[in-house]
Amino acid sequence: MRLDTSIEYIKGVGPAKADLLRKELGIFSCLQLLQHYPFRYIDRTKFTTIQQIYNEEPVQLKGVLLSLKTIGDRRKKRLIGQFRDGSGVVELVWFKGIQWVSKLETGVEYVLYGKPNRFNGKVNFVHPELERSGSAQQKAQFLSGVYHSTEKLSSKGLDAKGMRRILMALFSKLHKQQNAVPENIPGYLLDELSLLGRYQSLLQIHFPTSQQQVQAANKRIVFEEFFFMQLRMLKNKMQVKAGVQGLRFEKIGDYFNNFYHQHLSFGLTQAQKRVIKEIRADMGSGLQMNRLLQGDVGSGKTIVAFMNMLIALDNDFQAAIMAPTEILASQHLSSIEAMANPLGIKVALLTGSIKGKKRETLLEDLKNGTIQILIGTHALIEPTVVFQNLGIVVVDEQHRFGVVQRAKMWMKNKEAPPHILVMTATPIPRTLAMTAYGDLDVSVIDEMPPGRIPVKTFHKFESQRLWVFGRMKEAISKGHQVYIVYPLIEESEYEGLSEVKDLMVGYEAIEREFPKPQYQISVVHGRQRSEDKDAEMVRFAKGETQILMATTVIEVGVNVPNATLMVIENAERFGLAQLHQLRGRVGRGGGEANCILMTDYKLSKDGKFRMEIMCQTTDGFKISEADLKLRGPGNIEGTQQSGILNFKLADIVKDTHLLQMARQTALTILQEDPSLSLQKNKLLREYLATTATKKGFGRIS
Ligand code: ADP
Ligand code: MG
Repeated sequence: MRLDTSIEYIKGVGPAKADLLRKELGIFSCLQLLQHYPFRYIDRTKFTTIQQIYNEEPVQLKGVLLSLKTIGDRRKKRLIGQFRDGSGVVELVWFKGIQWVSKLETGVEYVLYGKPNRFNGKVNFVHPELERSGSAQQKAQFLSGVYHSTEKLSSKGLDAKGMRRILMALFSKLHKQQNAVPENIPGYLLDELSLLGRYQSLLQIHFPTSQQQVQAANKRIVFEEFFFMQLRMLKNKMQVKAGVQGLRFEKIGDYFNNFYHQHLSFGLTQAQKRVIKEIRADMGSGLQMNRLLQGDVGSGKTIVAFMNMLIALDNDFQAAIMAPTEILASQHLSSIEAMANPLGIKVALLTGSIKGKKRETLLEDLKNGTIQILIGTHALIEPTVVFQNLGIVVVDEQHRFGVVQRAKMWMKNKEAPPHILVMTATPIPRTLAMTAYGDLDVSVIDEMPPGRIPVKTFHKFESQRLWVFGRMKEAISKGHQVYIVYPLIEESEYEGLSEVKDLMVGYEAIEREFPKPQYQISVVHGRQRSEDKDAEMVRFAKGETQILMATTVIEVGVNVPNATLMVIENAERFGLAQLHQLRGRVGRGGGEANCILMTDYKLSKDGKFRMEIMCQTTDGFKISEADLKLRGPGNIEGTQQSGILNFKLADIVKDTHLLQMARQTALTILQEDPSLSLQKNKLLREYLATTATKKGFGRIS
């Protein structure tokens, strides 16, 4: 029996059950069965009496099976049992797997485990587990595992107890063989990190001899999952790095120096300085940079990106910024132009709507190097867009671009691929960054420019609408501006109603309260033509309107420093990340700013928690950690394609500590032995080779 042997050959399984296990749980091999870990344990040393049952928590009883009889006709057949201990009698009921259960013997002492139900003042158990008292299996177990099963499996005797039985059969085979479960972590690491051996950990996770052993087994298995993922990912990253020659930008020239010494109107934060240095070091190393720059909204990423673009320019190369939307691209254009014009740098914007002669001229100027910085949307990727020599690509708002699109930017320079800097304003929890983006280098701006006052956040209900109007009027009377944001509503949710219905209804109410000509209102939503949308945005940005009512379109990043109040309608419909992004749109001018979250009275537990977090903190990392805990890694943007969801036991939220340990261990090993060719790392090399996945861990950028 080997780990890759089909489960069919385990005693008590056979072809029919094997087929069912394959179909229901995707278990084909012995290894997969071993990796079907219990999700909790029953403490076999704890017994209750029937009299002591007071709620519906699962209990363990010891008693005698008094009777067992089948009642009902063929279609509604049930098996009813009477079970007695010293304190009382309970009824047992089975609807399924009757054939299997009816092999129980009356008059014999059993240990019963199950969830009691109260029914007409009496207690009964539906589908309890029964095990002969004093049997070897029952006595051997302090804690016994409870396994995920399905109805179909249970009806064929493969309930939790059945699972334990076949696992037991498998272990008794493996036990007799030499090295049946080959170790994959070298002894020196097991010692150093106090980890159980592989076989021991598998045995103990299924059939623990104590609570401590469960923990030890858990630690080993979770570590192993994280460790091999990290080892594979970091090894790939090192190979790619070593293999891809990059442009070497060692020179810091006039552009950078002039800007830094003469045009920078404020001091950089320590975090900004540190990140600029990290990027500079990458660009000077001779290898291609692939770096993720994280920083909360307003932390000053643009200036960091700009200064690194200046280094490319100082080395006679061009630079490009790619943004996910036209609006965002034009905003980048205005902020970059403001910094670049005084230095005499030629900047241009390329989007899908720039056509004809204008486009031709632009493309010509790009090719001959007249244009030094090109800003644009995904239009930059098109093959007709040819640079003279592209030194760095800054990709803003990471998660909106696909991997393939970014890879295409690699081809935009002939001699060597340009350096890639991916910027994201969605803070990614460290744990997630380590797994999902583990193959990119990460820089973090974890400090806000001085003088920023955190946005004050309130949670209000419809009945407090007048108070909200009051805050709006107050802001406007100070010459400030206000956003009102509505969630997008899926067509299917309200049949026949448009996605902008709430916005339109809201508009009527706002217009009544804020009449013309004293007040001017802009309205922006996804159903508008993009020219109209832009025109409305521009009116607001110029201060011609005081109120901007919009569906989430503004989320992508308008910058109106004069806006100091944001009202978010139906805030419970937004996720934490989105709320945080939205809120980041106010308070950009440096003064005090407020955000009001409007919700229904009836809120789910999650919804309430989200509102509380938002009122408590403005720290994007704290919010994203909370989001991760709330929704799990599967729902955080950018994680789906990364393979981090394939863990069987490990949980990046609960097991952060082991994740860090695994990453650190992998790093240390690879630093000493990048190709794992040392004798002491032989097991690692072999294990990676045999488990190489076809999917692999694709590059993120
Ligand atoms: P992000 O892109 O990270 O959301 P921006 O780069 O747009 O943030 O910066 C937000 C605002 O803060 C800009 O107006 C920028 O000029 C300003 N800013 C950036 N760094 C500093 C700093 N160190 N001190 C003061 N203001 C800064
Ligand atoms: Mg920005």
